[in-house]
Amino acid sequence: MVYFIGAGPGDVDLITVKGRRLLKEADVVIYAGSLVSTEHLNFCKEGVEVYDSSSMNLDEITQIIGNAYRQGKRVVRLHTGDPTLYGAILEQMRELDKLNIPYEVVPGVSSFTASCARVKREFTVPEVTQTVILTRISGRTPVPEEEDLEVLAAHKSSMAIFLSVHEIDRVVEKLKRGYQDENVPCAVVYKATWQDEEVIVGTLKDIADKVKDKNIRRTAQILVGYFLNDNGTYSRLYDKNFSHEFRDAL
Ligand code: SAH
Repeated sequence: MVYFIGAGPGDVDLITVKGRRLLKEADVVIYAGSLVSTEHLNFCKEGVEVYDSSSMNLDEITQIIGNAYRQGKRVVRLHTGDPTLYGAILEQMRELDKLNIPYEVVPGVSSFTASCARVKREFTVPEVTQTVILTRISGRTPVPEEEDLEVLAAHKSSMAIFLSVHEIDRVVEKLKRGYQDENVPCAVVYKATWQDEEVIVGTLKDIADKVKDKNIRRTAQILVGYFLNDNGTYSRLYDKNFSHEFRDAL
């Protein structure tokens, strides 16, 4: 069996218990060196074969996995955050399907939830928004027109924008047009849960300058939306006058 495992956003303790166990047992580990901390490899057994995928292409990755699998080795493919988001695992799974190699995907803590945790906010706030949009700006990877940042921002939902901080000016322009408000709060979280994490807070008016002052050009989440203000509303979940499946109203 081959395991695609989410390593979490940075802090090595943010991998799941299952992910850590499989990593400890692995004979071969292929990790996304650009964003996965090498500290994870300290948990591997002695003699483990380790490959950094950041300089490899799909054929090379498939070949390593295929060879190891045929030799009866346990293979872990370690991805940053959660593997189902911008992880390019689909194409890898497709290749394994062609070779009849079985695999499982083990989820992880994504950088978007880790970033929200670092700013101590909740994406879904009663009477503010009940929706989170995960997206990115178009670049070399095209984004469908209907999902342009301006169009998505018009929903005024909470947003977590991946892979876009290097284009902060263009991001902010589109968001301003979509939200029709320059005072929307923003937080840019660089390397959430790593040692060199940076959190920058502001609004659509000033966030771009603050990001450029800090020279942040990669590995950051752009969180946007009114959820970043605490509007003082309460949920029904802990409301003493509201009963639900697990608790009766007073
Ligand atoms: N699968 C990953 C995303 C991979 S794409 C996940 O679930 O988080 C890489 C992008 O993710 C980066 O450009 C950045 O926007 C974001 N990212 C990854 N790690 C991050 C971290 N520790 N802090 C902030 N953003 C991060």
